[in-house]
Amino acid sequence: MLSNKDKIFTNLYGQESFGLKMAYARGDWDNTKALMSKGADWIIDEVKNSQLRGRGGAGFPTGLKWSFMPRDPEKNNYLIVNADESEPGTCKDRDMIRNDPQKLIEGCLLGSFAMQAHKCYIYIRGEYYNESVVLEKAIAEAYEAGLIGKNACNSGWDLDVYVHRGAGAYICGEETALLESLEGKKGQPRMKPPFPANKGLYGSPTTVNNVETIAVIPTILRRGASWFSSFGREKNTGTKVFCISGHVNNPCNVEEEMSIPLKDLIEKHAGGVIGGWDNLKAIIPGGSSVPMLPKHICDDVLMDFDSLSAVKSGLGTAAVIVMDQSTDLVKAIARIAYFYKHESCGQCTPCREGTGWMWRILEKIAVGNSSSAEIDKLLDVTKQIEGHTICALGDAAAWPIQGLFRHFRDEIEERLKKGSFAA
Ligand code: SF4
Repeated sequence: MLSNKDKIFTNLYGQESFGLKMAYARGDWDNTKALMSKGADWIIDEVKNSQLRGRGGAGFPTGLKWSFMPRDPEKNNYLIVNADESEPGTCKDRDMIRNDPQKLIEGCLLGSFAMQAHKCYIYIRGEYYNESVVLEKAIAEAYEAGLIGKNACNSGWDLDVYVHRGAGAYICGEETALLESLEGKKGQPRMKPPFPANKGLYGSPTTVNNVETIAVIPTILRRGASWFSSFGREKNTGTKVFCISGHVNNPCNVEEEMSIPLKDLIEKHAGGVIGGWDNLKAIIPGGSSVPMLPKHICDDVLMDFDSLSAVKSGLGTAAVIVMDQSTDLVKAIARIAYFYKHESCGQCTPCREGTGWMWRILEKIAVGNSSSAEIDKLLDVTKQIEGHTICALGDAAAWPIQGLFRHFRDEIEERLKKGSFAA
């Protein structure tokens, strides 16, 4: 179990004030100038050596992403923090923002300096109104104390940080849709390439990072890349905030070591599955867009990027959704399918038409009005969507359905034959 001294988010549960005075006491902004005086290249190298991978879902190596940013003083580089946390089951960034916002703001300064950006936007989902109020207050305190703004921390670097509230569309968490929205346009994903590091916000080089990714940067730089990479496994390093929900005794957010066994995570921190581990049916380990895993895989899988991808699922946002034997898995996945149908931006045909099609078939299966042939058709639709769309929402809609039938097809067909679905 991760010891308290190795936790980065020491106020995750808000037992102390989020204010600057308490943030100083927790070690935030401790000689930030000294970190910056080591130079942008040193920061990027430390982040690379820490093997930090993006915490928003895709898991791309952060230091490598930062190194793609051009260093041309003629260009207006931007750092954008993605706080549009909308993946069902996920609520970690919310706790970081409302209880420990100075970690994020200090990370904004260090990240912006490393990528030579003088402007940083934090794009926060519209529903996080209270969190946006906290964030604005924290930013005002940081300006007041000279930590950001002109000559931030006496480093000679100028940085302005802005908060921008979204209007509640899930798709604006996709980085290029987020940029469109920030520019005042409809939040629809852009074709890539060009990638944001070449042509991002207002056509300028831009990096978009998740809240947690940026908020862990100050601690990595202070305690060292080797400290961070001593947790977890090769290429799956560090600590991670997991969100555990569903059929557990104590749903919670918890910071733990990457690569912790899934079973340990649930038993040590969430009070175990309701009715005991043997009452477990399946777990969605990384937010609603990743395929579910049946109990026998959950028994010993590790919670990290590579272990979960090896069992055809993913770490995603590390939102662990636990479903016990009482769960009607078809209904659960039909509900998720409805969500993706609703959130599709409608730009590409496979996603716009396919998400509705998949949802309708699942609803039929959920009431027993279907057949094995229709399951084949449904899986065919998922394949026609997967990999054939502008952004990953199409995949996100297809994968949970593939996961359901990969592991539970026999059981579902048996129920269809017996007519044991509620009509
Ligand atoms: Fe829009 Fe869906 Fe296409 Fe993404 S995959 S661009 S959400 S229609």
